[in-house]
Amino acid sequence: MTKLAVFSSKNWVINSFTPLKDQYDIDITYFETRLDSKTASLAKGYEVVCIFVNDEANAAVLTQLKEAGVKLIALRAAGFNNVDIEKASELGIGVVRVPAYSPYAVAEHAVGLLLTLNRKYHKAYPRVRDGNFALEGLLGFDLHGKTIGVIGTGKIGQIFAGIMKGFNCEVLAYDKFPNDKLSSQGIEYVELEELYRRSDIISLHCPLTYETYHMINEMAINTMKQGVGIINTSRGKLVDSNAVIEGLKKGKVGLLGLDVYEEEEKLFFEDLSDAVIQDDVFVRLQTFPNVLITAHQAFFTREAVGNIAETSFSNIREFLETGKCVNQVLPRK
Ligand code: NAD
Repeated sequence: MTKLAVFSSKNWVINSFTPLKDQYDIDITYFETRLDSKTASLAKGYEVVCIFVNDEANAAVLTQLKEAGVKLIALRAAGFNNVDIEKASELGIGVVRVPAYSPYAVAEHAVGLLLTLNRKYHKAYPRVRDGNFALEGLLGFDLHGKTIGVIGTGKIGQIFAGIMKGFNCEVLAYDKFPNDKLSSQGIEYVELEELYRRSDIISLHCPLTYETYHMINEMAINTMKQGVGIINTSRGKLVDSNAVIEGLKKGKVGLLGLDVYEEEEKLFFEDLSDAVIQDDVFVRLQTFPNVLITAHQAFFTREAVGNIAETSFSNIREFLETGKCVNQVLPRK
């Protein structure tokens, strides 16, 4: 029986993983804590550790995991920027991920952030419940005919672009590797600078890499239209939060929808409602009336959670049986 340690366990993880344990012959221990250098010793005696987006598998943690006897890291996420893939390979620890659990979930959430910010549903809901039926402050704009810039046209970006096409928007796209199929669907690939210049709304769907870190910085924002809307459901570190705060203060950024935040590891997935938040940048972002933040919930649909559990277990089985896996993450050559 395979021994699996699951870090950052929450009820949704326990409820979706536990029913599969007999079928896959896996003995699971759930740790509520995040994986980092202080908690890596908990993995002693486990062949596999399963981690999520805010667990930390840097070189030091991986070395500890190796000493603890870990052979495989099973990410229950698509992004793998929190794992030092080169170091894992050097240590002979396999890394597998769940590349697609529901791109619809994330794309639909990005649309939800945009519609909410534009039409102010979050303000209308408590207002109407309080018997305040005034429309003051709820003015939005038609999405019809607006120009939407999509950065990263992989699984999620394509679906988001398609939904925006359904709203009769003009869709511009930038990707390091453009997709001809999308060009034939009326999506116009342009250079990043042109996308910044022409878009009314920009939505980020590319991975976090050394190239994309803080791509939305002061220079990029200066290139954008006055009042631009920015939606980030990808990774927090794509956006320089201080630059975007300056943009919001000047009115250059008109709407900001975030499902991810650059320092989210210290905040997201925990109930901190009784705590004093120490992150002043995050608190400043929350003070703007035109900023909407959700705590990394874009993936969180029934369909996605089921797929995450199924794929994580089949990845583990495939890797342990064959020494490789179709969803393995390998170092860049
Ligand atoms: P994907 O791999 O299918 O697509 C990513 C696209 O980005 C690819 O087309 C790739 O060519 C492109 N790309 C790579 N480098 C680029 C660059 N420098 N500039 C522009 N484009 C570049 O990934 P996906 O499944 O569509 O996911 C996109 C991102 O969404 C993931 O990287 C992940 O960080 C994020 N995500 C967030 C959640 C959430 O709950 N908020 C859930 C899943 C994924």
